[in-house]
Amino acid sequence: MKVLSVNCGSSSLKFQLYEMPEEKALISGVFERIGMKESFYTIKINGEKIKTETDLPNHKVAFEFLIKELKENKIVKSLDEIKGIGHRVVQGGSYFDKTVVVDEDVIAKIDELSSLAPLHNPAAITGIRAAQEVVPNATQTVVFDTAFHQTMEEENYLYAVPYEWYTDYKVRRYGAHGTSHKYVALRANQILGRNNTKLITCHIGNGASISAVKNGECINTSMGLTPNAGLIMGSRCGDIDATIVPYIMEKTKMSPKEVDTALNKKSGLLGISGVSSDSRDVEDGINKGNKRCALAQKMYVRRIIDYIAKYYVELEGCDAIIFTAGVGENSIGTRREVMDGLKVLGVIADPEANNVRGKETLITTKDSKIPCYIIPTDEELMIARDTYLLAK
Ligand code: AMP
Repeated sequence: MKVLSVNCGSSSLKFQLYEMPEEKALISGVFERIGMKESFYTIKINGEKIKTETDLPNHKVAFEFLIKELKENKIVKSLDEIKGIGHRVVQGGSYFDKTVVVDEDVIAKIDELSSLAPLHNPAAITGIRAAQEVVPNATQTVVFDTAFHQTMEEENYLYAVPYEWYTDYKVRRYGAHGTSHKYVALRANQILGRNNTKLITCHIGNGASISAVKNGECINTSMGLTPNAGLIMGSRCGDIDATIVPYIMEKTKMSPKEVDTALNKKSGLLGISGVSSDSRDVEDGINKGNKRCALAQKMYVRRIIDYIAKYYVELEGCDAIIFTAGVGENSIGTRREVMDGLKVLGVIADPEANNVRGKETLITTKDSKIPCYIIPTDEELMIARDTYLLAK
């Protein structure tokens, strides 16, 4: 059975087609600048990348090109071979604790939650509608970034603000990157050979979050109402004193939207270093003696260690720490600094094993009290797995 994983942004559509249950990736690609000038798409097949510049006025046209490519590359003969299409949705609120089949009620709920994810949820609906029109016989599913975190207890998901903010405005911790945390936690349990485990999963990419996972279920996570909370990220501030916001608004006369932009797009590694949101550029800056890059990296690593320590206590121990996503999989220096900061918990890094990028590896020594692993994440595959189970 062929299953398509889809991730729609307001002007983009990323996809990957799988043969299931073999989990064989057949073709992937991304459509960019949808609805804008100079739109194009890139297809990756058999290790080769092909770029096509063409008019993409909307997501439906992008889906039509996608299907044309699948047929021309002889990956499918007829549309009916695609039995499932799984859509990534950023915000599922308290409504969704698992992947579900799309119906009108589901779409209405995703729409209702758009105020919590104004850039992402409407784009996902556009993608679902387009897919329904172009591939009407496929089972459409929605896979939520927040679903994995729905197992948190209320003492971990509530903020200590007036309770009515929760009941009236849904203000609570929802978390993010749930599909990735779930994927690496499942894989870690396979590696450890059991499911009754205490894991700390670190998804450190441009956006970043850490989860505490007990017996396969999330008990706490660092992101909050929005993906701005928790760790210091590429350009997001992570946890700050909330009263900084009214204070700065009063001082600078910034609007709520301008402060939001500053906290999401001009903070984090970028805000402190003044150089870049990309950890590679910050590392380059450090090597050239840039003091603010060094400071940004110190703060970035400190926050990761703080969260791991907090979850170690909350889990009452830890069977494995997992590093994943862009920085977690690729930044040898950041991983080393984090592991060095965890020596007090008995973590002993293995410098040789850690000298690797993007590969599943144990990066601590035999004597380390907590093993640390790199596990490359695969959110698309997770979406395909869930969709396959619902479509079959
Ligand atoms: P993601 O959001 O998971 O795609 O991660 C993207 C981020 O990963 C980039 O912004 C970089 O900061 C980081 N990254 C990717 N490759 C490397 C690398 N080789 N060394 C350090 N950081 C990297």
